Order: sequence, then structure tokens, then C-alpha cells
Amino acid sequence: MAAEAHKIPELTVLVPVFNEAENVAPLLARLTPALERCVASHEVIFVDDGSKDGTMDAVRDAHARDPRVDAISFSRNFGKEVAIAAGLDHARGRAVVIMDADLQHPPEAIASMVEKWREGYGNVYGLRSDRDSDSALRRALTARFYRLFARLGETRLPPGAGDFRLLDRRAVNALMRMRERARFNKGLYSWIGFKSIGIPYQDAERAFGESKFTYRKLTRFALDGLMSFSTVPLMVWTFIGMTVSFLAMFAAVYMVISTLIKGTDVPGYASLIVSISFLSGIQLMSLGILGEYIGRIFAEVKGRPLYIVAEHLSVDERDRAIRDSATPRAAE
Ligand code: UDP
Ligand code: MG
Repeated sequence: MAAEAHKIPELTVLVPVFNEAENVAPLLARLTPALERCVASHEVIFVDDGSKDGTMDAVRDAHARDPRVDAISFSRNFGKEVAIAAGLDHARGRAVVIMDADLQHPPEAIASMVEKWREGYGNVYGLRSDRDSDSALRRALTARFYRLFARLGETRLPPGAGDFRLLDRRAVNALMRMRERARFNKGLYSWIGFKSIGIPYQDAERAFGESKFTYRKLTRFALDGLMSFSTVPLMVWTFIGMTVSFLAMFAAVYMVISTLIKGTDVPGYASLIVSISFLSGIQLMSLGILGEYIGRIFAEVKGRPLYIVAEHLSVDERDRAIRDSATPRAAE
């Protein structure tokens, strides 16, 4: 096994998992034969994103049965985007496929991705059909977000492309150089470029359990996405400010003239309050947006590691084996 483990596998499949204990075995049952049919050698890396439900036990069982299954586990939940980054850091394959654990991404589609990779594409993304399995509200909000991103974002996202994709080693290395904390992988995949192509696939229903994304997590994700790929929210305030001062100049001229002609005019309280509260609202909003960006700058400047690994199955096992086989040194 040791010799086997040092060989570079042709393909790494990277699966972020967060409380997916009951999905690990069914996924491998379909994934392993699908991989054996299309590549010479492979490894499957689970990145356990701080699960609390025995996901790691399920993965350990799988590793005991098949050493091609490996895992790293985080010390807490860092989020799917960071889990993918960690998986890319640890992947050894000449290409990497990223997929969800819940069998929404059909393992059989990997064969056609590999085919495209062999034809020379470095970035082969799955194009999903409409996600009927998501709630209507989530679908509506998602559609709005992507429309907004298309207008504001400085990077084009192919519509319908998600995390299910194959990346060539060169693309993986490029992604590994991006250590940003507020991560929006969909944007990064496009940003790195490489010869890209989409492969349509049918999105299935989640196998077991329910979606690990709350609306809160999705909102955070959407903000991270917009703010790490667009500075438009920062710039609009310049234009709003310019327009408002321009209008204010006209108002000032008008008031001076009307005071000269008609004398002082005491009433005007209502318009005063309206304009003050309107402008303070605008100012607070712009401060809030500035704050969001500054918060992200702060997170980057601290330079903390992207994630903390609590356990790395194969490496820990190797360390243990070395420890156990070492002859104890003579006491000094
Ligand atoms: N996931 C993760 N960390 C999280 C949330 C989700 O690693 O904080 C994983 C999850 O286990 C699954 C994948 O990301 O393998 C997609 O999650 P899910 O199916 O819940 O998302 P959805 O399909 O609803 O978008
Ligand atoms: Mg899912």
C-alpha cells in the first residue's frame, strides 16, 4: 500500500462534506466504479468541514476498505468555499474533479469531463439543468444574484456553471495561489481562464439529509462574491454624491434669489427634515458599504491561515506507523 500511496493518481476527486455521514458510502458505491471505468488511477479526498454527525467515522471506514479514499478534517466549520481550497491544496492528481457529497452531481458525468480534459480543456464545468429541488424562493434569489453579478462583476460567469467541474493541474496550481479569505470560487474558476467548456448534466435530488446552506450562509456568500469581484458598490456613491451636490447648488441659488425678492421665509421645516433624513440615510448606507469592504480588508490583512486541519487520515496513519516502528532511542 505504501508504494501505491506515493504514486501520483491520474485524477483526484475532491468532496467537501459537512454533516454528510449517510451520504459517504452511497456516494463511493457509485463514484468508485465510475472512476475505474474512465481513469487509470484515482484518489478521493473528503474535506470534512467540521461535521458533528460522524461523517469522519464513515470516511475512516471507507479508508480502511479502500486506501484510495483519504480525508482531511477541519477543526471547525470553515464553509464550503474554504473546504474546496483545502482539498485543492492536498490533491495530488494530474486533474481534480470537485463534486458535492449528496449525489446531486452524477458521478457518471465525470467520464465526459475526463474526455474533454484529454482533448486539452483545462477547465471543464458541469452545466446544471434548472434546480427544481431548490425552493422557489431560493431559486428566485439565486437568479437575482446572478443577474446582479453579471451587471456589476468584473468577471463573467458562465450561466448554470457551479462547483461540479474538472480542473487541470495547471488550473489547480493557479487556484492554490489565491489565498483570499472571502472566497467566491465560481468567480475564481472563471478568473484563472484556461481553455474552458461546459458539459450539461441533470441535477438530481439530494440523496440523504437536507441542504447545508441556510439563507444566512447564502447571503454572506452572495456578499463575498459581489465584493470580491466588483468595486461598483464603492463607486456608485461618488455619482450619487455628485448628483446630490449638483442639485443642492441649484437649490441654494434658488433660495438666495427668492430670499432677496420675497424676504425671509420661515416655513420650510418639512422640506428641511425630509432632505436631512434623506441625506443621512444615504450617508449611512454608503458608510455601511465602505464598512463591508473594510471588514474584508481587515480579514485579509490579519493574514490568518485559511483553515486549520485537525486530522489528515493517510498522513496521520503514516506518522503513527513510523512512530510505532521506530526503535526507542537509548536514554541519555
Ligand atoms: N458543505 C460544506 N460546508 C458547508 C456547507 C456545505 O462542506 O458549510 C458541503 C456539503 O456537505 C455538500 C456540498 O457542500 O457536499 C453542497 O452542499 P449542499 O448540498 O448542502 O448545498 P446545495 O446543494 O443546497 O447548494
Ligand atoms: Mg446539495
